[in-house]
Amino acid sequence: MKITFHGAAGEVTGSCYFVETAETRFLVDCGMFQGGKEARRKNLDALDFNLDALDFVLLTHAHIDHSGLIPRLTALGYKGPIFTTPATRDLLEVMLHDSAHIQEKEAEKANYLRQKSEKKKRRDVAPLYTVMQADASLRFIQGVEYGTEFSPHPSIRCRFRDAGHILGSAIVELWATEKGKTRKIVFSGDLGQPGQPIVEDPTPIEEADVLLVESTYGNRHHKGWEDTVNEMVYAIRDTLERKGGNVVIPAFAVGRTQDILFLLYDLVRQKRLHDLDVYVDSPMGLKATEITMQHQELWDEEAKKVFSWGNHRHNGIRVHFAEQKEDSMAINDIRRGAVIISSSGMCEAGRIKYHLRYNLGRKECSIVFTGFQAGGTLGRRIVDGAKMVRIHKEEIPVRADLYTLGGLSAHADQSDLLGWLGKFRSPPKKTFVIHGELSVAQQFAKLIGKELGWKGVTVPALGATVEL
Ligand SMILES: [Zn+2]
Repeated sequence: MKITFHGAAGEVTGSCYFVETAETRFLVDCGMFQGGKEARRKNLDALDFNLDALDFVLLTHAHIDHSGLIPRLTALGYKGPIFTTPATRDLLEVMLHDSAHIQEKEAEKANYLRQKSEKKKRRDVAPLYTVMQADASLRFIQGVEYGTEFSPHPSIRCRFRDAGHILGSAIVELWATEKGKTRKIVFSGDLGQPGQPIVEDPTPIEEADVLLVESTYGNRHHKGWEDTVNEMVYAIRDTLERKGGNVVIPAFAVGRTQDILFLLYDLVRQKRLHDLDVYVDSPMGLKATEITMQHQELWDEEAKKVFSWGNHRHNGIRVHFAEQKEDSMAINDIRRGAVIISSSGMCEAGRIKYHLRYNLGRKECSIVFTGFQAGGTLGRRIVDGAKMVRIHKEEIPVRADLYTLGGLSAHADQSDLLGWLGKFRSPPKKTFVIHGELSVAQQFAKLIGKELGWKGVTVPALGATVEL
């Protein structure tokens, strides 16, 4: 049996693992590379192997860095099944469509710029895939519930377990039989932070012959949940009650937006916040919230409690979803008393830019960052203390109060990861540390040896093939 690391090896995006046994060949994840100048070329090269030989694909979750090349895979001719959980399938309908839309827009922009420059004789840039191709890829995706064993090939048994990362996220347990011998491979997918709103905690796994484990935050400890919640309460009360302005919360549409909504409901339920008007301004955020509501079977006990409270009395909190452009624009006129959740999470695109334009320059308002702000983004410039930022060709002074909340991560931190690994009854024969920046993954691989005494823990190189 062989495994080739086609992505998320020494980096955090492009998850894609190609497994070959004497009987079958399959992929686990088919993610897009994101960020950096190299991403486009890497995405174009990513599926450069014999797709005809591929029998099936397994997807751990809906995030684009794990699923974003599915439309390209099917556009290149793959016609086999793609297995994932039902909630992931529902989220992919929204996310792949949106991803394709972004690809089309970027290609359009690149071509426009080329036309204006000297390079107009060069060939047009084509989108990585189109909206039509993304929509067409959906019919290959099949949902299988957590805990249900299935057999995508006669020599393979499989089971999805809850990874507690985002709605529908899965750990893959896989038993491969080759020449009469069966071995178990576990793919961690992205593991969630225990205690995070809505989703369950990551399922402990007790055995594997071969393990691939993520290491996104293998070098970090998240801020405590209590501190995070206290800061959120302070930011909202100080802004709405004392200063008399608005609170703007940039948030990813899928996952984070729902987490914040649930947190706000819970805080009103606990009487720590009162009389909130919450505006969710993101069409994808609305769809992802609807999908979250349709999958209450996946919620943890706390989420069910909060929901049944919210369902019975709406006194303390009113949530308004801005679906149409006009609904969104109407929010611009609200001068005080609003909590506005909008995307994109790093303020690079989308409706959040309007809300920053209307609120960032007012000292009675606050901006609450709840997620990582990557270098080069508008969010990062604001967090790093810029006095002025450019939004929609206008210079906006930064006068609002800024908060950065560290505890809302959807990823396990170093101790959460070690805690999950510590549930294995015996060490896997081989462990591959994946899905982390190179130095982080290497550091974390060493830590696994030191803390748990495991041997055979390595960080695979991008493109490396390892005989198992
Ligand atoms: Zn993820």
